[in-house]
Formats: sequence, C-alpha cells, structure tokens
Amino acid sequence: MTSTPGDALVVGGGIIGATSAFRLATEGWRVTLYDPEPGSGATYAAAGMIAPTAEIAPGEEENYRLQCGALGAWRELARSLYDVTGETLTIVEHGTLLVGFDASDRRLVAQYEAVATSYGVRSHRVTRATHPDYFQHVSPRVSEGLYLEGDAWLDPDHAMSLLTLAHEALGVSLVREEVVLAGVDNSRVEVTTTERRGLGDIGVLATGARALPGGVAQRADHVVRPVRGMTVRVQGVDRSAQPTLRAFVRGRPLYLVSRPGGYGVLGASSDEQRELVVEAGELQRLLRDALDIIPSLESAALVETRQGLRPASRSLSPFVEVIDGRWAWLSGHYRHGVTLAPLAANEALSFARSVR
Ligand SMILES: Cc1cc2nc3c(=O)[nH]c(=O)nc-3n(C[C@H](O)[C@H](O)[C@H](O)COP(=O)(O)OP(=O)(O)OC[C@H]3O[C@@H](n4cnc5c(N)ncnc54)[C@H](O)[C@@H]3O)c2cc1C
Repeated sequence: MTSTPGDALVVGGGIIGATSAFRLATEGWRVTLYDPEPGSGATYAAAGMIAPTAEIAPGEEENYRLQCGALGAWRELARSLYDVTGETLTIVEHGTLLVGFDASDRRLVAQYEAVATSYGVRSHRVTRATHPDYFQHVSPRVSEGLYLEGDAWLDPDHAMSLLTLAHEALGVSLVREEVVLAGVDNSRVEVTTTERRGLGDIGVLATGARALPGGVAQRADHVVRPVRGMTVRVQGVDRSAQPTLRAFVRGRPLYLVSRPGGYGVLGASSDEQRELVVEAGELQRLLRDALDIIPSLESAALVETRQGLRPASRSLSPFVEVIDGRWAWLSGHYRHGVTLAPLAANEALSFARSVR
C-alpha cells in the first residue's frame, strides 16, 4: 500500500471528478484536475435532487440501496466543504410529493407505490384536505398523492462553486485542457493534453458520458452510452417550503425543484441522442405538462434551458473500473450522478489508498 499520498491526476471536472479531487486533496494527495470546461457536462443540467425514494424503478433495487447512503454522505461532504471554505452548502430535506394528473397517471402512482412497498419503502397517502400546504400551486384537479420521506435536493451550481473554492484552498491544480491520451509508463500514470504531458502515481477518469481518452479507452471493459436530458429553468413560482413535486402527466414523468425566491427547475426530458440541441417538440411537451400540473407557471418567466448527457452503463448502475492497475474509471451514474458523487469520491479515495 502507498504509505504516503503522492500525485493524483483527475481527468474530468464534473461533479464526480470535482468531489473526487476534493476528497483526494483533503487526504494529502497533490491533485491535478484536467478539464477544458469544468462543470459544463451533465452536472450543468442537473436539478440536484438527492431522491432515492422518488427515483425507485422496477429492476433497480440495487441502485436504490446504494443511493440510500447518499444523503448522509452529502451531509458529511458539506461539513468538510465548510471546514475548508467557511461556506455552507444547503441541503433541503423536504421529501417528495408524487401525484398523477389523470386517472391513468394515478394508476402509475399506484404502480410506483407497489414497487416502492416491495423495496420496503414507507410512503404515505396524502390529500389536499389533510395536507393543504403540500398541494400549493398544484392543479385543483389533483386532490391526492403520495408523500415520500427522506428525499432532498441541493443546488449543483453552488456545490460546484464551493468545490472550486475548496480546490483552490487545498492547492488542486486545474489544467483547462482536454486529455487526449492516458496510460501508464514505468509504474506512473501519464496523460497527454493538446499542450503538455503530466505524470502521477494514480489517476481517476471521470469523463461522464464522453469517450475515455485514447490509451485507456482501448483497455476498458465497460461501455457508457449518453442519454440526453434537458431541464427548463423558470422564475415565478415558490414551492420551496414544500416537498419537491413529482408527477405523471399523460404517462410522462415531470418534476419541479423549487428554490427559495421562486427559481424553479423543471425536468426532465430523456432521449437516446447525443446532440445537445433543444428540440421544439420536447420543450413544448415539458412546458405543457408543467402548466397542466402547476397552472400558476402561466406567468412565470422562462429563464433558460440546460442540456446534458447522462452517462448510462449497460446495467444502468454506476461502476468503478480499474485500468492498467493505476487508473480508476468512475462512471455510469446515469440519472443519479449528483446524488452519488460523495460515494464515488469515497471509491476514488479507497482506490488511491489501495494502489501499491
Ligand atoms: C437533465 C438532467 C437532470 C439531472 N438531474 C439529476 C438530479 O436531479 N440528481 C442527480 O443525482 N443526478 C441528476 N442528473 C444526472 C447527473 O447530472 C449526472 O449523472 C452527473 O452529472 C454525471 O457527472 P460526471 O461528473 O460523471 O459527468 P459530467 O458532469 O458530464 O462531467 C464530465 C466532465 O468531464 C470533462 N471531460 C470529458 N472528457 C474529457 C477529457 N478527455 N479531458 C478532460 N476533461 C474531459 C467534461 O468537460 C465534463 O466537464 C441529471 C442529468 C441530466 C442530463
């Protein structure tokens, strides 16, 4: 085992690479982070939900169990970030309200409840009469739903800016260049960018849905496919004191993550495309569904759309693949990369400690 931390190279500065760089640096590793545009990938589009319960899906029980540890890991990470930066990362823990728009959507809610119950999750049926606050801004035609405890959210932009501050405080070197080649030479990891060469003792590959750099790419076993997603940012409806709203609308899932002050993140589209273009039809469907379930969005301002490529593995689960003994590839976080980031960073740290 490496007796003292040495030099670590991290390729990719999205939420996975940024948290890994932070954890390695707090353990005394001298970290160099490579990314031409840190935080510009899927992390930029993410709503920031840490919502293992609302994300339950048939066949993904293992993923659900993994995510159950994420909120505690985020609380711990937020404490470490505070220790280094003096700034607080707010994690809002109001749970989720799941509703259906029409009769067939309510059947989808019931199906969700059955899967959740089979995973041992406790959800509570709530109505507009028993919990009027929960239904604030929700269409009057919706009078009941499921309340799911334990779900939370954070602002990924804020998390990324605190991680950047922490990197600076801990001396993480940022190289704003793309790594084109990565490998191992004489027991040292080696990267080549368009401008320079770098060497280290261990390396972390956190390139999200993007292809790995040459060299390691030829020796990797896993395959990651990009799944495009869009969030729409609006200003004007404040449900921030209420549970995050999730809905099925005409069979499609929708969410509103509402932040204090009326900024809201609506999401999310999902399609098997890699071109980052906003399709008019997709935007129209998302907004129509949102207006049907939250009519007061009618006069909200449309701030922007954000798009990203979710990194999906064949099993839809995250993975750590060791390549050439000294590189750890962390990817496959799919819809849950923000949620899982502190756990991925722990994996990066365990790997670094284990390399001889
Ligand atoms: C619309 C949408 C909503 C989402 N909402 C949520 C949510 O609410 N909660 C949740 O948990 N997850 C959510 N996700 C999923 C989450 O965003 C991703 O799983 C997560 O961001 C993946 O992080 P990453 O660091 O692996 O990848 P990315 O964020 O894509 O970062 C990869 C980085 O690597 C860099 N890079 C790539 N190749 C190279 C190279 N060769 N050299 C140097 N740098 C390189 C890129 O520039 C990029 O900055 C959402 C995703 C989308 C698209």
